[in-house]
Amino acid sequence: MNCYICMDNGFVVYTKSENGNKYRFVAHCTCPKGNDWQYDGRRLEEYKSEYYVKSVAEILDTYELAKANYKARNNIEMGDSYEGGIGDVEDVEVPQESVGTA
Ligand SMILES: [Zn+2]
Repeated sequence: MNCYICMDNGFVVYTKSENGNKYRFVAHCTCPKGNDWQYDGRRLEEYKSEYYVKSVAEILDTYELAKANYKARNNIEMGDSYEGGIGDVEDVEVPQESVGTA
């Protein structure tokens, strides 16, 4: 793990409210991995045109984001070491309708 802003993904997904609707946007990270995502929006089939990928530093407080990600990750790692900490995944019932047929 080199970057706690994007968790080494190179991008961060964020939501923004406009006219009462919530939209999801992608921001590229400021770390080296983020370079791969800087113009990626223009390569997407569905969203060609003037789609512009902003830097995460323009949108969010990267220090707070990194701090939150760091905390979340460490809590998960701590949970893994607890006996029965995370729970039995097999016991979760998945409704048939929600299983995709794609
Ligand atoms: Zn990053």
